[in-house]
Amino acid sequence: MVLIVDDRIENLLGLRKILEMNHFTVDQALSGEEALKKVLRNSYSLIILDVQMPGMDGFEVAESLAGISRAKDIPVIFLSAVNTTKDFITRGYLSGGYDYITKPMDPDILLLKVKNLYKLSQRNSELKQTKAELEKEIESRKLAERKKDEFLSVASHELKTPLTRAKGYVQLIKKSLYSLPKSEDLRKYLLRTEIQLEKLNLLVSGILDLSNIEAGKMHFNMTYSNFSDILENILETFNHIHPEFQIVRSGPIPEKLYADHPKIAQVILDMLFNAAKYSTESKVIHLDTSVDEDNLTIEVIDTGIGIPPEKLPRLFQKFYRVESSYNQYQGMGISLYICSEIIKYHKGTYGAESEPGGGSTFYFSIPIKPSYPLFTEMQA
Ligand code: ADP
Repeated sequence: MVLIVDDRIENLLGLRKILEMNHFTVDQALSGEEALKKVLRNSYSLIILDVQMPGMDGFEVAESLAGISRAKDIPVIFLSAVNTTKDFITRGYLSGGYDYITKPMDPDILLLKVKNLYKLSQRNSELKQTKAELEKEIESRKLAERKKDEFLSVASHELKTPLTRAKGYVQLIKKSLYSLPKSEDLRKYLLRTEIQLEKLNLLVSGILDLSNIEAGKMHFNMTYSNFSDILENILETFNHIHPEFQIVRSGPIPEKLYADHPKIAQVILDMLFNAAKYSTESKVIHLDTSVDEDNLTIEVIDTGIGIPPEKLPRLFQKFYRVESSYNQYQGMGISLYICSEIIKYHKGTYGAESEPGGGSTFYFSIPIKPSYPLFTEMQA
């Protein structure tokens, strides 16, 4: 939009006509003060300023414009009937203007200058926008880099804990080999070592999954197979690592499920592990399932520490951890993100409901069947 500023309405009308006939959108102001107010409110690509005006003259307006950050780059064309001496013209340029036209003006020359400066202004604002976008991009990359560095330090800390514990148990096993009676102690330490090694295995698998997702190399092996076996395995694995917890199962499951079964098992296990990790006194976790014509829904319900409602939308983001669980609980903030990627691949949906101190429910739904008929089904 072009802003034209002149104290004479007849001049404004004439200018407006020329510009509008050449498809420019035009706004007008009858004084320098009014022009400055308008500049603060609207955005203009070019300003045509009459030099001789009562109150603020055109040069003063231009000088004030140079001090307004959103206006300082708007090109200005000065219009003047008198004062066409060299000094005066120079003052026009020094006060921040870009061009100068003396009256009586030639409409063709005016249009030529308007078109050139208008184009320049548009290019400038495009450049500014590109610069702003680039700065935003650099900022977000820096942030991602910082998060990755933080993650590396958290991950190495996480890996070290089970490793140190497993090492300690191996030393105890070594010692108990030379003392009697040993079989009971040996069994206990071997079991604990095994659990710590399993935790280590899960942590390393999580990091590998994350790096595969980042590289777009997470592979899925979709099969149409028995889901009850998978569920049994999940409960067994969970019980092995957390024998102190009881899982209460309820709800039907489909006989067969089209999925990458180990990966769906991983999602359920991760939700169960979180339910155990963020639990308080209760050692009971509910695992509910429901089935409708198209989908299987799984809910993991705990009575643990809960999550403030404003944090719920960010739970499945990479590296996100609720601040209150930062110091008290160990974690890398990646397992729910990996879960979400796995569920998305299965064209499913997921979410969480929770209340601080009132426990949490993590759930997801995935289609039971593929969206196209399988070869074996078609044959049957
Ligand atoms: P982490 O390794 O930190 O547990 P996750 O991706 O599994 O990472 O979970 C992200 C965050 O969500 C956790 O840090 C925790 O703050 C919160 N969270 C996940 N599950 C639960 C739960 N069952 N109860 C309370 N908070 C949870």
